[in-house]
Amino acid sequence: MRGRDPAELVERAAGGDRAALARLLTLVERGGDGARQVARLAHQRAGGAYTIGVTGAPGAGKSTLTHALVRHLRQDGRDRHEVGVLAVDPSSPFTGGAILGDRVRMTGHAADDGVFIRSMASRGHLGGLALATRDAVRVLDAAGFGLVVVETVGVGQVEVAIAGAADTTVVVVSPGWGDAVQASKAGLLEIADVLVVNKADLGGAEAAVRDLENVLQLVGPSPGRWRPPVVVTSAPAGTGVAELWQAVTGHRAALEATGELDARRRQRLATELREVVLRRLEDQAATAAGLGSFDALVDEIVAGRLDPWSAADVLLTFTQPAAGERSGPPPPG
Ligand code: GDP
Repeated sequence: MRGRDPAELVERAAGGDRAALARLLTLVERGGDGARQVARLAHQRAGGAYTIGVTGAPGAGKSTLTHALVRHLRQDGRDRHEVGVLAVDPSSPFTGGAILGDRVRMTGHAADDGVFIRSMASRGHLGGLALATRDAVRVLDAAGFGLVVVETVGVGQVEVAIAGAADTTVVVVSPGWGDAVQASKAGLLEIADVLVVNKADLGGAEAAVRDLENVLQLVGPSPGRWRPPVVVTSAPAGTGVAELWQAVTGHRAALEATGELDARRRQRLATELREVVLRRLEDQAATAAGLGSFDALVDEIVAGRLDPWSAADVLLTFTQPAAGERSGPPPPG
């Protein structure tokens, strides 16, 4: 069948072919060799996209707010951005495509070619989802999207980590959800570059802003560091969305002025490399040790047949070739 070759798909996606783009994202989601090939090709072309992570408790209004932000950006005549949106949901099973997603509430952009929305679901392995999301961002970047929004469904560890791995991370709370202390407990204040109190129309927003600012005072960044602004929005009406965008661009400008943007991106790539190496080592080690998987060894520890140290010895035997089999240059002298 025509058009299955990843190199050709990347070429076509970069030329604006949305079907090719969707196919690439499915390959990324599936993992394995196909995903690797796509990641390699996309990485060569990527580099331009600015990424925004959006996280917060379910129901806080992330999806509605993302939709409103996209609408704002697409309507802003001076500076129209092509926007890619990835909605990441670790709790949904992988369906082999975007069937469950491309959410109904986002269909307002269906006729707009400058917007591409896609759901990313779990392949049963949470670490896999985080890595797949990075590659999906890469693919959107290679396809020419100047802006990629990664929206996560909730505030689980994986979701927070995924949303936190963006150039600018937006944390959304609603006055009803709870106070700043709760956001702080979920680890949200640490990753927030911009804070949003949404659902201002329901009241209680001022108190929520005060709460957040008090907690930021206590646990916030040290002097001289970026201090997350708190923006008040009412997403369905689009109120405060222009201010949200201003806060995001303000953060971006600050990152660029200090050189921190490059440092952050480098740091992110280092983390990604570490994760990839770790996963591959786990797999190789489990295979070399004659185990079905890393998890099989964990089962042994859980069952009390091995302790973690001995289990590590079992895994790592493959890194220590038996005497006489050592390769490499002979010792000097
Ligand atoms: P998410 O789970 O964080 O993505 O939240 P959603 O965007 O799905 O919003 C959850 C519910 O809150 C939906 O019924 C939205 O229509 C509603 N909602 C979102 N933002 C606002 C807001 O600013 N004001 C009010 N009154 N409702 C909102």
